[in-house]
Amino acid sequence: MTRKEFLYLSGVTTTSIPVVNSLQSIQKITDSYKITERMPVLFLGHGSPMNGIEDNEFVREFKSQVAKLEKPNAIIVVSAHWETKGTKVTAMDNPRTIHDFGGFPKALYEVQYPAPGSPAPGSPALAGEISNIVQPTGTVELDHNWGLDHGAWTVVKHLFPNADVPVIQLSLDVSLSPMQHYELAKQLKSLRDKGILIIGSGNIVHNLGMIAWNKLNQNYGYDWAIEANSKMKKWILDGDHKSLIEYKKQGKAFELAVPTPEHYLPLLYTMGLKQQGDNPIIFNNKSLGGSLTMTSVKLG
Ligand code: ZN
Repeated sequence: MTRKEFLYLSGVTTTSIPVVNSLQSIQKITDSYKITERMPVLFLGHGSPMNGIEDNEFVREFKSQVAKLEKPNAIIVVSAHWETKGTKVTAMDNPRTIHDFGGFPKALYEVQYPAPGSPAPGSPALAGEISNIVQPTGTVELDHNWGLDHGAWTVVKHLFPNADVPVIQLSLDVSLSPMQHYELAKQLKSLRDKGILIIGSGNIVHNLGMIAWNKLNQNYGYDWAIEANSKMKKWILDGDHKSLIEYKKQGKAFELAVPTPEHYLPLLYTMGLKQQGDNPIIFNNKSLGGSLTMTSVKLG
């Protein structure tokens, strides 16, 4: 077997790993950032895309979580709505606003969130650094096609309405196990000390197939949704990450609460970024339409 074949079979293809920057230039990029306090980490339950244009209790709480925060140098969002083979990092200067949903009012399709992508105009500087950090954990590629999907812009828009903080998305690699996602997130910890706000965007209980449409806007949860949400909340507060990572072993309530992984996995990124001394805060702890919870987390 040649080295190339070995790397290919190991999931490490030489073509998918971009050579973006020398280590020296990468260090200069982050060293040039404004020094800030250590950034918190968020998990935001994004719920309906309509939260992008509504002023409701959930988005008001998003805003209040960052009200006293120094302006970050950049934001990284891990959204439930970007699943790829291998991890991808958006590297465009001006990411487009993606309206990745159907059947909503025209006003929602008209929203543009024109945040810059890279903090160094004309260069994929931060994307390159992220890809270098992630590289040992899996395959990684710089992406020039995606943009900001609704998992990203419908929440970040409320945090920074002026769209003046660069936003980069990191995709969910469908080939990774929950533990591998958690480990990947841990690699990014140092970025919190570079003024980078990292956000997981999903919903910890998310079963659209079982939504009670007549109770969609009501604070109502099925027993299994409340049970899974309560256990997740306890594990978040207790720092029991093992139980969160092993969510597939947690019985029937979890099978119903997490029928597919994409809305849950962003939570594992948030938890993987926990630093010593971080105090987890839970907010928006509400159920909607029976099978969805808006439960959100702030660490730090
Ligand atoms: Zn979603």
